[in-house]
Amino acid sequence: MSGPAEDLHDWGVAELSRQLAERTVSSVEATRHLLQRAQSQHDLGAWLCIDADRALAQAEAADARRQAGESSPLLGVPIAHKDIFVTRDLPTTAGSKMLEGYRSPFDATVASRLSAAGTVTLGKLNCDEYAMGSANENSAYGLAHNPWDRKRVPGGSSGGSAAAVAARHIPAATGTDTGGSIRQPASFCGITGIKPTYGVCSRYGMIAFASSLDQAGPMARSAEDCALLLSAMSGFDERDATSAQRPPQDFLAAMTARRDGADAARPLAGLRIGLPKEFFPAALAADVDGAVRRALAELEKLGATLVDVSLPRTELSIPVYYIIAPAEASSNLSRFDGVRFGHRAEHYTDLLDMYRKSRAEGFGAEVKRRIMIGTYVLSHGYYDAYYLQAQKLRRMIADDFQSCFGNCDLIAGPVAPTVAWPIGDQDDDPVKAYLADIFTLPASLAGLPGMSLPAGFGEHGMPVGLQLIGNYFNEGLLLQTAHVFQQATDWHQRAPAMEQSA
Ligand code: GLN
Repeated sequence: MSGPAEDLHDWGVAELSRQLAERTVSSVEATRHLLQRAQSQHDLGAWLCIDADRALAQAEAADARRQAGESSPLLGVPIAHKDIFVTRDLPTTAGSKMLEGYRSPFDATVASRLSAAGTVTLGKLNCDEYAMGSANENSAYGLAHNPWDRKRVPGGSSGGSAAAVAARHIPAATGTDTGGSIRQPASFCGITGIKPTYGVCSRYGMIAFASSLDQAGPMARSAEDCALLLSAMSGFDERDATSAQRPPQDFLAAMTARRDGADAARPLAGLRIGLPKEFFPAALAADVDGAVRRALAELEKLGATLVDVSLPRTELSIPVYYIIAPAEASSNLSRFDGVRFGHRAEHYTDLLDMYRKSRAEGFGAEVKRRIMIGTYVLSHGYYDAYYLQAQKLRRMIADDFQSCFGNCDLIAGPVAPTVAWPIGDQDDDPVKAYLADIFTLPASLAGLPGMSLPAGFGEHGMPVGLQLIGNYFNEGLLLQTAHVFQQATDWHQRAPAMEQSA
């Protein structure tokens, strides 16, 4: 076997998998190449830890399995995990000082399923503290930069995952999405990501932010690559009480399934795509609006029909989410008390003082803000006024989607109102970042699957994502539509120039 191809890092999961199967490259060679690339671009800030020895040992094992005749598609494919999935052999921080040095006694289900499928884990990826944020600026371990412009944010909270995939350190990564954290960084970094229906991927071992919203998913360069990962990482798990009881799914098969009435020229014939008028407000940046509309025109050319629909409570999804998510977070994060988990203050006078100081030292500003909001909206006297109202509205937001799906098969729109903003731009006002979640929150509150795919470029040469939202368990249709689009366009293949430094 000759040396590995120089452009190996440009291969996506499917391409790398083909090359591994044809033995033009070994997993050890691919792993070594990508490790070298990730390590030499450490200043991108995407990684919280890289374990080269362990990765190479896994790659060797994968090569041996191939030699022995095994041929599963992910066997020997290097990936990495958002540092919110607990892993036994690598540290887990959730981007928080609270968990510095923490080692989990077990692997998250998503991580163990991907390992069982033969993936090689290079390390763990930077993220906002406890997945709270939209820019990766809330990580206790420093910024991650956008590979398209290092002065800009990569999005969040799965910012490290998006940056590492876009920078070609790895062909794919895991992410989690509570209110947009897979879709928005995917959009900001020009990659493809899917948040499946709530319950499709197990939450076991995923450090909890807002349990009724948290959902894991893959981030990669194409819909095909996402389908390969999602097939391995999803499925019922008895250790997660909210896991969907459904048979394992082959998302690649769903992605390539024949559509009734479709032909080569019009592969999306018969597909009705709903455009909620609330997803195209006057405040939508013109460059984002333009790129999204050109992508929609392309989908129309491919046979889809665009129909007008309405999600009248879109704006309300912001206050609803920023009541429910902090409420759940305040409860979930109470376990980090310096006793059972996490950082413990060195000096304290009594037990209460120990709790207080440990939490004051361990949590960052945004996490504290959310714990305070959450505790407030759940408190006696305010529960009815805030939390209960938010829950009622959440149901109405979900119902609005069902009315839309009476008239369309999929919903489309932008992922975020602007392209990735400059680092530090929203430091003075957290609410500015909250408002930018407007297009991702509705699907999260409804528990619907949503995806982001590269749709072109906007101002400053920054990527723009197109969001597709499907009805429950319609991941196959989302992936299929995205795949057809990606066969007709090459936005997802564009790579950032990596020679600039931070
Ligand atoms: N930006 C949202 C927030 O800060 C979403 C985060 C997420 O999906 N994890 O809560």
